[in-house]
Amino acid sequence: MDIPGAISAITAALGLARELRQIDVNLEKAELKLKLADITEALAEAKVALTEASLRISELERAAAAKSTDSQHIARLSKQGELYYDGPVAISNAKCPHCVEVKRLVVGLHVEPFDQTILACSNCKNSYSNPFFEMPSSYQSPDYDPF
Ligand SMILES: [Zn+2]
Repeated sequence: MDIPGAISAITAALGLARELRQIDVNLEKAELKLKLADITEALAEAKVALTEASLRISELERAAAAKSTDSQHIARLSKQGELYYDGPVAISNAKCPHCVEVKRLVVGLHVEPFDQTILACSNCKNSYSNPFFEMPSSYQSPDYDPF
């Protein structure tokens, strides 16, 4: 029996138990009424538990569907150097290799605001050297010697 079916069955059992409680019984049958109250309470708790389980399963199914979408997306990526690209090799298409290879997620990279030689991933926090960074034309390396 699937979980929605179990919830329906428990709901029906709860209805029956409520009907039994409303039957007019004499004083010697008071214990029976208490037992029925216990049954009702137990069934209500089971219903809550199954409802929560059902919601959790729906969440997991949605997550699995999203992951499958990412797998299809990963198959379309190309790798150049250490980074993946979704489309032409451009900074806007750069994807995090750790997230693609380990987490099976397609996550874009952004230029570190305080160090433009670095591309960083906001998901796994890994950083990579920025293959698109170009030195300013006025920059000369310390060992630059024109003669
Ligand atoms: Zn990442």
